[in-house]
Amino acid sequence: MSLTGLSDQQLAAYLQELGEPRYRAAQLRRHLYHRDATSFASMTDIPAGLRARLAADFSVHSLEVISQTPSKDGTTNKLLLAAGDGELLEAVSIREGGAGSSPGRHTVCVSSQVGCAMACQFCASGLDGVVRQLTAGEMVEQLLHVRRLHGAVSNVVFMGMGEPLANFDNVVAALTTLTSAGAIGVSARRVTVSTVGVVPGIRRLGGLGLRVGLAVSLHAPDDVLRAQLVPSARRWPVTEILQAARDYAVRSGRTITYEYVLLDGVNDGAPEAQQLGELLAGQPAKVNLIPYNPVPDLADRFRRPSTGRVAAFCAIVRQHGVPTTVRTAKGDEVAAACGQLRRQRDVPESASG
Ligand code: SAH
Repeated sequence: MSLTGLSDQQLAAYLQELGEPRYRAAQLRRHLYHRDATSFASMTDIPAGLRARLAADFSVHSLEVISQTPSKDGTTNKLLLAAGDGELLEAVSIREGGAGSSPGRHTVCVSSQVGCAMACQFCASGLDGVVRQLTAGEMVEQLLHVRRLHGAVSNVVFMGMGEPLANFDNVVAALTTLTSAGAIGVSARRVTVSTVGVVPGIRRLGGLGLRVGLAVSLHAPDDVLRAQLVPSARRWPVTEILQAARDYAVRSGRTITYEYVLLDGVNDGAPEAQQLGELLAGQPAKVNLIPYNPVPDLADRFRRPSTGRVAAFCAIVRQHGVPTTVRTAKGDEVAAACGQLRRQRDVPESASG
């Protein structure tokens, strides 16, 4: 177990049991989250006896950086990380918009599971199912690694491997550490959880009042088309997802982002754009169109639409008054689509060809 995986309460309880003064918890959190300590030995204001005890009971961190894949322009870097049990996961550092003295935005894209059970047809993460949940500490450490390599982080998105709302308790524990002032202290306004549309999870998250942003991966405006791309559509229909998302928007005071992966000739036509616009018109909603990032193992199944088709789709949705953006595909030279780096490492040469 790593120390980063303990909640504030768990850390306090552990220290209390050892008869340590209350301020030790804050001291330790300062080392973990503000000084980027990588060893107990470096925590020299902690008594040596307690350091030895901590070292016997915990590791400081549980992830190790295995490889880095920076983009040519240096704005993104994809980290492949190994957990204590050898499982591999990915985290991405993304820099945008810095100019002159303005640092711009530095986002870390966090994975919430090894693999994914959702099996969206165009996504690499779900090709082998879900291997295991990530712990809260493993999610928090993705930010710590990115920050150590690339400096202060302004935004966090749970858009890496996995379905965050299928690992609810650990994700909430990670969100708490990420946003609490005594730990990492990223404003909840700058944190987004992306879900395939797990309705009970959206409702539970809303009930917690964390006020983090919500992104919903819609990918189709109706249940029939959606079920061909996203198996969980059979469980949670579009109308129920939209209702839960609308309630989330009201509770959190935040606009919902709808993600829509554009697949050439599949879901990117004018009728779908029209339907999507009608569905979201007047809602607290914006749309993020994501032109498909090719996944080698799915080479023949899907294609990225032309920029003309993407622009036409975008224009139709906008005609309905729905703010719509197109995600620029900086990452594809580094196999940015979710789960790809892990697969390249994981799948034996013979099986991946
Ligand atoms: N399970 C969460 C997080 C997934 S990753 C969710 O479904 O929202 C974040 C986004 O990347 C999702 O919208 C996902 O559908 C999308 N995505 C997955 N594979 C992709 C690919 N090959 N090309 C483009 N976007 C992809």
